[in-house]
Amino acid sequence: MTMRDTDRALVQAATAVSKLRCRSPRHTVASAARTADGRVFTGVNVHHVTGGSCAELIVIGTAATQGVTELETIVTVTDRGREVAAPCDPCRQVLRDHFPSLRVIVGELDALRVVEIGDLPG
Ligand SMILES: [Zn+2]
Repeated sequence: MTMRDTDRALVQAATAVSKLRCRSPRHTVASAARTADGRVFTGVNVHHVTGGSCAELIVIGTAATQGVTELETIVTVTDRGREVAAPCDPCRQVLRDHFPSLRVIVGELDALRVVEIGDLPG
């Protein structure tokens, strides 16, 4: 799938959060998700020796806290916004189970693309 303007804006949102909030080893990854009606939720990971939580899960919980249980598109950025990362295997499973038609932005920053969550391996 090709990138929409709203997809590029979502990458910018995740990048902004990453640059602003991922300033310690505790928080290194940011994620942003958009609903079909344009609401955006962001979050950062929580790193801890016990396992912590990935940014994607924080975003799902943040959306649910606001009563939103349907997400359309998600992106995850690392390295203070210098890379877009695909969700890890456990997150892929959660995202597939909760949002079977979720669009995921992946790829190199200069060649981003959108894939359906079910088309990601793992
Ligand atoms: Zn994960």
